[in-house]
This record gives sequence, C-alpha cells and structure tokens, in this order.
Amino acid sequence: MIVSERPIITVACDEPMSDFVGAVLREIADITGKPRRRSEIDNFDIAGSLALSPEDSAELWHRVGQEKFCLKLYPIEGAYDGICALREFADVRAVTSPFKSPHWANERERWLMKQMGFKRDEIIQTPGKDVVFAHVFIDDKIEPLFKWRDRWPGSHAIRFTAPWNDNRGWDGHSSCDWTEIVKLARVLVGR
Ligand SMILES: [Mg+2]
Repeated sequence: MIVSERPIITVACDEPMSDFVGAVLREIADITGKPRRRSEIDNFDIAGSLALSPEDSAELWHRVGQEKFCLKLYPIEGAYDGICALREFADVRAVTSPFKSPHWANERERWLMKQMGFKRDEIIQTPGKDVVFAHVFIDDKIEPLFKWRDRWPGSHAIRFTAPWNDNRGWDGHSSCDWTEIVKLARVLVGR
C-alpha cells in the first residue's frame, strides 16, 4: 500500500507498549503465594487460564482497579524506541481500552504521555478500537484485530504476539519484536 499523505499508525497500549500482564502476575504471586508464568496464560481470560479461585480472581481485579496500578506499569522492552521510529514516517496514535475503574483512563493518559511521549490529542481511549481508522494497527488482542481488519480492508493489522494470542486463528502479520514491527510497518505503508 502506498500512502500519499503521512500514514496513520495506531498502537494498543497493554502489551505492545505496557507490561500489564507482568504487573498482574506480580499481584497473583502476592495474593496466592504461588508465582506463575506468562507462558501459562493461553487466552485473554487471565484468571481463567491460571484457574484462580473466585476469591483470588476478585481480589486480583480489585487490585488492578486501585489507584496507581495503571500508572506503575513497566514499559515493554523496545516499545519507546519503536514508537519514536514509527513517528519518523507516520502519525502515531495510541488506541486503548481502559480497565473499568475510576483511575484508569486518567492514569493511562499520564502513562502514555510520560512513558511513550504521546501528546494528549494523540490518545484515543475506547473499548471499540475497530472504528478507529489507520493504515496500520498494532494490538495483542485477537478480537479487535479481526474486527478492525474486516472494517478496514485496505489497511494492515499486526498482531503483537504473546502466549495468550498464539494459536488463535490469526493468519496476518505478527511480531513481538519492536525492531521488526517498525521495519514491517514501514514496508506496509511504502515508506
Ligand atoms: Mg492488549
């Protein structure tokens, strides 16, 4: 695809940019006393994948909704450099679906500005990511990737590969390496 104007690239936050699962695993170890691994999470229902009890699961999601949880997430390795590299040839926007809590939307915005250098008007928070147009869309969640791809057939979706989205029927572009993703995005938009 050759894009005559500056291309638009949208990037989801959790996993492509922020290590949500790492923070969740630390909470699970604290709650249950039993450390678990990323590789054990084989779908988007984290508590279900790890067979947490209903009580532990409730405690986990309570903690995720608490103040500062979102703000303290670690960046994914290579994400900041990758986002900066994308900005050299594209208009990059964060498209993120915040966890339902009084703190998340505000903390997510602050996190994206501080950790990834986004401006406020470059951040779109919605559970309906598929309606947001881009030439390239990068996400780790399978359902939005499929919905988005169906809606924008002339554009390209890239799956940010993780244990919870492997073997879920995705036949499109995939990578979890930011250097590779930047190269791929550049080719896809003809830059
Ligand atoms: Mg995600």
